[in-house]
Amino acid sequence: MKQNFEGPGEGQWITVDEKNHELQVPENPIIGYIEGDGVGPDIWAASRPVFDSVIEKVYRGTRRIQWWKIAAGEQSFKECGSYFPEVSFDAIRKCVIAIKGPLTTPVGGGFRSLNVTLRQELDLYACIRPVRYLTGTPSPMIRPEDVDMVVFRENTEDVYAGIEWKSGSSEATKVIHFLETEMGVKLPSDAAVGVKPMSPTATKRLVRMAMRFALDNNRKRVTLVHKGNIMKFTEGAFRDWGYDLARTEFSDVVIFEDDLSSKYHGEIPDGKILVNDRIADAMFQQALLRPREYDVLAMPNLNGDYMSDALAAQVGGLGMAPGANVGDACAVFEATHGSAPKYAGMDKVNPGSMLLSGAMMFRRMGWHEAANLLEKGLERTIGSRVVTYDLSRLLPGSTEVSCSGFGRAIVDKIREI
Ligand code: NAD
Repeated sequence: MKQNFEGPGEGQWITVDEKNHELQVPENPIIGYIEGDGVGPDIWAASRPVFDSVIEKVYRGTRRIQWWKIAAGEQSFKECGSYFPEVSFDAIRKCVIAIKGPLTTPVGGGFRSLNVTLRQELDLYACIRPVRYLTGTPSPMIRPEDVDMVVFRENTEDVYAGIEWKSGSSEATKVIHFLETEMGVKLPSDAAVGVKPMSPTATKRLVRMAMRFALDNNRKRVTLVHKGNIMKFTEGAFRDWGYDLARTEFSDVVIFEDDLSSKYHGEIPDGKILVNDRIADAMFQQALLRPREYDVLAMPNLNGDYMSDALAAQVGGLGMAPGANVGDACAVFEATHGSAPKYAGMDKVNPGSMLLSGAMMFRRMGWHEAANLLEKGLERTIGSRVVTYDLSRLLPGSTEVSCSGFGRAIVDKIREI
């Protein structure tokens, strides 16, 4: 599919205010979509009618999305020899908002993940993963409803910057030599070497986004999660830069853990946000033992990656976990699971992750009523025990439906609400 730069012919572009990064969303916005590889086309085909019917029901024809297909992944490679053509990045920039299915990382040939490329190319510096329990979803937890957290994971630095050299390569040998002769650090001569860059600039813009989210959404706590006890100048600095940002830019709302007992009798006052920090390993325990005490988590890349999936498992697994990669200029909402190639084209998997990512997208557009209705329709469908195979095998007495059948069942529920 060749990208046509005129756009889809109908609809209006979303624009962003360059100063405050606020969106101006027209009534008939053009939104880019990437179907993705493997199960991507199945979950997109099931989700799109749900998105359209929610909008139709809530706005009764006054608002409508003009979907615009953007080329990427295996289909694009077959058609134009590129997994992610430059024009597709331009198309996402133009749309400001896009939604995507999973993309297979081509094996061999030194390909880096298409998702990592997308995040870096568009400077989508925050990976946002809200994790909340939808009633009726099978979960391994006794009280999965206690989990209601939003992870803000830094997307451009840390080990995902992808700077590493193979064991025995001339580059690794050079770095090892430099470290020994210039820095007084001795490494095994056959070591592979990776670099973990973390900067105050990238950390502060992430924590700023997490703080603004907390303010706008009446969330009471922002926790900086790090491994600063071991890596002081990277992970430890993440914590320090985060506190510094909170203190300087949010001084009128922020309170700290020490203040909580000394000044506020253990209660966070209305209008205030508690900023605290936890060491990552302790945070994994806290997520299981005391989830109600956590709200918004700001994390460096790798720890945030683990935490997002671990939290998703607590509320029913990756098939139900939404996500978005967000920068100042644009945002790409995505199903967080992979392309599950063994189920490709079988119309079988759960489209829940893409559906919930769509709800996140509606919220970003300010279409909150549509987001709420979508989530309600999904929750009620699961509540009536009509589910895809992954949930069905965990829900005794449920009716298993196909991916598209699940989408249709949600559309029917939405019509009843
Ligand atoms: P995967 O998530 O594709 O699949 C692992 C297993 O999880 C599947 O076999 C299936 O049992 C289950 N599963 C995944 N999605 C499901 C859904 N919607 N409903 C029900 N069950 C579901 O992980 P993988 O096999 O490690 O990765 C396959 C490919 O996807 C790789 O090329 C990888 O690079 C890519 N990937 C892409 C993304 C992305 O685009 N965001 C994320 C992760 C992996």
